[in-house]
Amino acid sequence: MAVAPVFPKIIRRRSKLHGWGVFAREPINKNKRIVTYDGELIDHKESYTRETTYLDRGEIWCFTVNRRWVRDAHVGGNVARFINHACKPNCYSEVVGKTIWIRAARNIEAGEELTYDYHTDGDHIIQCRCRPGCTRML
Ligand SMILES: [Zn+2]
Repeated sequence: MAVAPVFPKIIRRRSKLHGWGVFAREPINKNKRIVTYDGELIDHKESYTRETTYLDRGEIWCFTVNRRWVRDAHVGGNVARFINHACKPNCYSEVVGKTIWIRAARNIEAGEELTYDYHTDGDHIIQCRCRPGCTRML
């Protein structure tokens, strides 16, 4: 019988970066799989329509899986949708099939906020708030 994998303990809390954030509750080793980015599987055409609405509200929910699919975390999303973007993040995303994994880019200490680079490919109309003075648009 397969043993269910154990994932690091994480928690949603208010973030200094933006709105909600997700924080490590225990040390996480580099490259450890932390959580999947869940969301409804939709095609790019549908994603474009929804993103227009989301971006008007300053929100980013749609995560590109591949050339065919996008996951919309506004529908059926899990805690991963609250992980903030950062230009120098401590996590990275990895797509395996239609599953998006958030993994540790380095050793992370308990209490650190988790971040990854969204690599957005849209209209870049949201100001990045990952650190004071960041000029990137998402
Ligand atoms: Zn930034």
